[in-house]
Amino acid sequence: MPKNVRVCPKCRSHRVRYLTNIAGWLGPRKFICDECGHIGPFFIELDLDELKKQREEKTNDQP
Ligand SMILES: [Zn+2]
Repeated sequence: MPKNVRVCPKCRSHRVRYLTNIAGWLGPRKFICDECGHIGPFFIELDLDELKKQREEKTNDQP
């Protein structure tokens, strides 16, 4: 069974969490990446296998 995780579109980290009530105002739901600090309403979802694959490719690029 594929397990989807939400990942940062910028750095591909899965350390993403909801950002709630910035400075007290209610806006659209946003997410923040703990890794690079990227904030946005759209974070991509990948399944874990796909994420692993991309990470391996990344590792191969930068040994
Ligand atoms: Zn990020």
